[in-house]
Amino acid sequence: MRPNIILHGGAGRWSHSKYADKAREAVMKCTEKGMNTLRNNGSAVDAVVEAVKCMEDSGYLNAGVGSVLDFMGGRSLDAGVMDGATGRIGAVASVTATRNPVVLARIVMEKTDHHIIGGKGADLLAFLNGLPPLPPPPPHVWERYQEAVRKLLEGKPEIYKRITCFLEDYGFIKKIIEKTLDVGDTVGAVAVDSHGRLAAAVSTGGVILKFPGRIGDSPIPGAGFYASEYTACSATGIGEKIMECMTCKYLDTMYRETKDLVAAAEKTLEYVNKAVGENTMGFIAIDKNGEIVWAYNTEAMLIGYYEGNNIKALIKPTRAH
Ligand code: ASP
Repeated sequence: MRPNIILHGGAGRWSHSKYADKAREAVMKCTEKGMNTLRNNGSAVDAVVEAVKCMEDSGYLNAGVGSVLDFMGGRSLDAGVMDGATGRIGAVASVTATRNPVVLARIVMEKTDHHIIGGKGADLLAFLNGLPPLPPPPPHVWERYQEAVRKLLEGKPEIYKRITCFLEDYGFIKKIIEKTLDVGDTVGAVAVDSHGRLAAAVSTGGVILKFPGRIGDSPIPGAGFYASEYTACSATGIGEKIMECMTCKYLDTMYRETKDLVAAAEKTLEYVNKAVGENTMGFIAIDKNGEIVWAYNTEAMLIGYYEGNNIKALIKPTRAH
């Protein structure tokens, strides 16, 4: 069985990013790391966790060290992992204590009886397991936050003066999401190992300027990630829309119907476009035969994969593979 892996570094408007080259370099390096794990007999779970951890550590993607800031300038991170061979799931939400939420998600999967642990409990679990702390946001993350706030407040500065605006202006959150889906540089990976076992992982800081405590699709199995004995999938984009579509579970269902990964991806994108509209999301997937696919309805999506022995890290891949 030929092991294979594909990574994503987020779907969105990549042309707006000042750090696209650095993000692309990070995805390239982490694709290699993930593939090396598989080549050294690591499992699919080992490979996706290694690849996602590498992207969390890069500082130039919206996960781990590079996570975007919420409305109040804080951070809360989400991540998930699923082992398709056993159906085991681990996810964490609103984590603040570690730079590697994907490692914490794996701990939930392997060392607890639960599927999702959030907030203080997740932070406690990170501490008890000695995970490395989350360092302060790098300067470019602060800059991006300030720019986003400035853009949001154009013409409506009174909003920022009163936090109660969240209660008074119900369209506000929606506006934040629409105005700020510039670069959805959340990260994810899916892999199949030499035993044909599939796994999916995802990690994110969420959407920039989110309401503190908001949880997206990334820790929700079936939405931001999913793996079975047939497929593994990781999604990125507007979490609320991804949850409405249960995108990754939908793809798996389509695969079981069509037995064709490209057809399943096309059907999933068609469904998504109809259900929640364009410019909402993208996803990567792999099947038990090692075929890979990507699809997105945003301006671009950063992906990393192998073509023969060459690593490709592309920001605007042109077609479903
Ligand atoms: N899906 C992530 C979330 O909504 C964001 C992203 O993919 O960039 O939390």
